[in-house]
Amino acid sequence: MDVTTARERLEDMLAELDRSIGVLQGDPVAVREHSAADAGSDLTDADRAQAMLTVATAQRRAVIEALKRLEEGAYGRCVDCGKPVPEGRLEARPEAARCVQCQSKKERRH
Ligand SMILES: [Zn+2]
Repeated sequence: MDVTTARERLEDMLAELDRSIGVLQGDPVAVREHSAADAGSDLTDADRAQAMLTVATAQRRAVIEALKRLEEGAYGRCVDCGKPVPEGRLEARPEAARCVQCQSKKERRH
């Protein structure tokens, strides 16, 4: 994936995440639109929104870091081992910071 495509996809993701985070945080306009489509929300929905907000915030951070790596010319290389992240992985997750091996190592540590 070339740098221009990567940047476009990351910027799209960032805009989308900003929108979702706005909805989840209860931006008045977004909430009005949201509750029209999703009437009868209860505490479970609030819990789910909180969980989604956590995921969206973490992903937003990953996208911003990926954009920073693009700026620095380090995009597409694993932040842990420095090897190129496979193209297919970047296609699926343009914000991926690690190759599959380092990512699974990191996840096992948790
Ligand atoms: Zn790696």
